Amino acid sequence: MKPPSHTPRARSAATGPAPAERPAEHPERRPDSEAERKMQFLFALRKRGVTDRRVLAAMEEIDRGLFLRGLFAERAYEDMPLPIACGQTISQPSVVGLMTQALDVPPRAKVLEVGTGSGYQAAILSRLARRIYTLERHKRLVTEARRRFEALDLTNITAITADGTRGLPEQAPFDRIIVTAAAEDPPGPLLAQLVIGGIMVLPVGQSDHVQRLIRVTRGEGGFEYDELLPVRFVPLLEGIGQE
Ligand code: SAH
Repeated sequence: MKPPSHTPRARSAATGPAPAERPAEHPERRPDSEAERKMQFLFALRKRGVTDRRVLAAMEEIDRGLFLRGLFAERAYEDMPLPIACGQTISQPSVVGLMTQALDVPPRAKVLEVGTGSGYQAAILSRLARRIYTLERHKRLVTEARRRFEALDLTNITAITADGTRGLPEQAPFDRIIVTAAAEDPPGPLLAQLVIGGIMVLPVGQSDHVQRLIRVTRGEGGFEYDELLPVRFVPLLEGIGQE
């Protein structure tokens, strides 16, 4: 089944095709058509260092507007984090792209995501991996994300209301783990649930500071840590949320 296409309201009447060089010359200009918006979106991702073809193809296919509500959906193609329910945020597209690229997901991979939020990151991962498990502490966000996965026919994602700091022992180990909320340090249970040869990407640092995005690689002899870029994420909180 083909995912339903989302058509944000045009801001002005488009008259004929736009010149091809426009996005390169005026990256900040408000684009007229959805095709042009999408082209600028992909251009901005490349400019920020998202170069992996599979990641770009997945981000072209999955419409970020479907993961946002009301007026925010119109800003889906802008490279900025935006508010979602329960006081949380959908990450900036370039950060989603860079994290997904750093995760280096093989097609047969079983992936764990901690922090479902809107479900956007999980949807991108679902185009690249065999199986996605995504954990979220707010039940309401899980319900909304599940609806989106169903509407898009993304059948390889399982979204669960749970405290993700504990991981998902019944499905462990995972080939890849991605955490989209910031902890001071990588949670021990998540490190333990990574296969040898596996990769985990996560932001670390205090929640009211700029955090560092790191990549943890599990080798035969232990864990290796690489620092990727400064980021800002909502905090990874223990326990289940109220909503
Ligand atoms: N990946 C999301 C962005 C999520 S924002 C997207 O693509 O939209 C981070 C999310 O992590 C929030 O929804 C927050 O509720 C959730 N979170 C924070 N601590 C958590 C925990 N211990 N377990 C599960 N989810 C958690």
